[in-house]
Amino acid sequence: MKAAVVTKDHSVEVVDKTLRPLEHGEALLKMECCGVCHTDLHVKNGDFGDKTGVILGHEGVGVVEKVGPGVTSLKPGDRASVAWFYEGCGHCEYCNTGNETLCRSVKNAGYTVDGGMAEECIVKADYAVKVPDGLDPAAASSITCAGVTTYKAVKISHIHPGQWIAIYGLGGLGNLALQYAKNVFNAKVIAIDVNDAQLAFAKEMGADITINSRNEDAAKIIQEKVGGAHAAVVTAVARAAFNSAVDAVRAGGRVVAVGLPPESMDLNIPRLVLDGIQVVGSLVGTRKDLEEAFQFAAEGKVVPKVTKRPVADINAIFEEMEQGKIKGRMVIDFATH
Ligand SMILES: [Zn+2]
Ligand SMILES: [Zn+2]
Repeated sequence: MKAAVVTKDHSVEVVDKTLRPLEHGEALLKMECCGVCHTDLHVKNGDFGDKTGVILGHEGVGVVEKVGPGVTSLKPGDRASVAWFYEGCGHCEYCNTGNETLCRSVKNAGYTVDGGMAEECIVKADYAVKVPDGLDPAAASSITCAGVTTYKAVKISHIHPGQWIAIYGLGGLGNLALQYAKNVFNAKVIAIDVNDAQLAFAKEMGADITINSRNEDAAKIIQEKVGGAHAAVVTAVARAAFNSAVDAVRAGGRVVAVGLPPESMDLNIPRLVLDGIQVVGSLVGTRKDLEEAFQFAAEGKVVPKVTKRPVADINAIFEEMEQGKIKGRMVIDFATH
């Protein structure tokens, strides 16, 4: 079967590979789709260590072809996901308290283990989340990473219906955060970006207020217009956005960090203490979060913007990604090849 494998010189080669036999608790998926994520770019480039030989992909959706011994949670014909959170240990303090993505022995698809950017993929059946019927596989693949990440971030922002949430960065992640905030949590959304085209799209998707932070002080405007946001979700990969988010929330507000710039943010201690501001990080989502994120997409409340591409395009896609040319999500289509 064809698989997109990381090469020694930080490129990707589509090679023929034979997977090992299934072990206890495992299932074999015949892949339909796999989205291409910025994290894949980092893995391929060796930013998280040398990953030569690994099959990329953690936004995969496929149909169960067969199951190994001991599998009761999946059966042939089920559609299931290959997510970044591939497997936890199942018995540590994080796994046992609903924080399984923080498991210290976590395995990640397309990184620690072979991922879903291939015609076939082996998954741990109990960790592969079922995709609801009626949800398009390409859309589902986008929910498997970007969708669940932003759904979880909005969820832990503790936003309530009718409250104001500020979303920093309206690219692929931010646009989904906007849709979850608006259509699932019934929040009022302030969209902040430096790109007018992204803001125009956010407006189309229902943003109540849009601010271009290249020309304007977003925090000041948010404080003046609505008395400060109740929460902020930062998907932007810029330190300035994190600093602005802390200034944009009202007393008791929560800032959820999702974007990952490699720097520190400023945090004014009197502001933190006297106004009771909370700043929390959020990493992908648990199996339960993914199940919920899928369900809202299946109900049409959240619609990812996806473009299907053949696997032969993979290096071209990474080039486009590095040049910032990608709008929405590029999804490798294995079903029609
Ligand atoms: Zn991803
Ligand atoms: Zn664990």
